[in-house]
Amino acid sequence: MMIKPLEKNNGGYFGETIVISDVLDRIATAAKIHGWIIENFSQSTELPLYGLSRIAKHERLSAYISSGIHGDEPGGPLTLLEMLEANTWPNDVSLYICPCLNPTGFKNNTRENSIGIDLNRDYRHFNSTETKAHKSWIESIPSFGISICVHEDWEAKGFYLYELNPEKINSASLEILNAVSSVCPIDQSELIDGRPANCGLLKPLESPDVRPLWPEALYIVQNNKTRLSYTLEAPSDFPLYFRTHALRHAIETTLNAHLSEN
Ligand SMILES: [Zn+2]
Repeated sequence: MMIKPLEKNNGGYFGETIVISDVLDRIATAAKIHGWIIENFSQSTELPLYGLSRIAKHERLSAYISSGIHGDEPGGPLTLLEMLEANTWPNDVSLYICPCLNPTGFKNNTRENSIGIDLNRDYRHFNSTETKAHKSWIESIPSFGISICVHEDWEAKGFYLYELNPEKINSASLEILNAVSSVCPIDQSELIDGRPANCGLLKPLESPDVRPLWPEALYIVQNNKTRLSYTLEAPSDFPLYFRTHALRHAIETTLNAHLSEN
């Protein structure tokens, strides 16, 4: 049976929401049980900004994963919660995870934080306390082989992804899209978010210098924390369990693809 869009997202995200304080509590509990290093780099006392680390004994890959930078995209934090609770990460991968970068946005189901800043456009000028604190944490960890930024798109017809890969090194994008296509439709639009797309793959080409506002992924690549970044986008007009399943499959495929080439 093919799952159909719910057709609820009329002008924004109108699907299921999460109670972010509960999700963050469960994330901290799971991380503690499974031996992660847990840092709270938030400058405020309201809600934590967690940076989780797990260093592999025999590292063959290091990966950074972030989500929840947009408060109307619950699929990312929920997927990472499920993966942290299941604790079935592949061996030999050092992991650095920020499970929710915009906790105040989730309280009101807004893309922006509680004072109206789109944090994923604040990685050039760092006007918000969240991005400033996140930048310091990122600077404190070693560089990593790949980056995975987990998002959702309320307008998308299916799953798609952005690849930032200035040196055109071996990427797993086609493998990820192929794997996800078995559990979720791929957005086949020729234009997604105003950019040319090819069967769900977007490779933004414009020079960073001409972009006045930078997303997280661009900051990470421009600062050489990694040279290969994936931004995963799940279609949030589908049921939440369906999106977390697709996102988990995409993350696991990405890690395994890069492990098998090392
Ligand atoms: Zn987003």
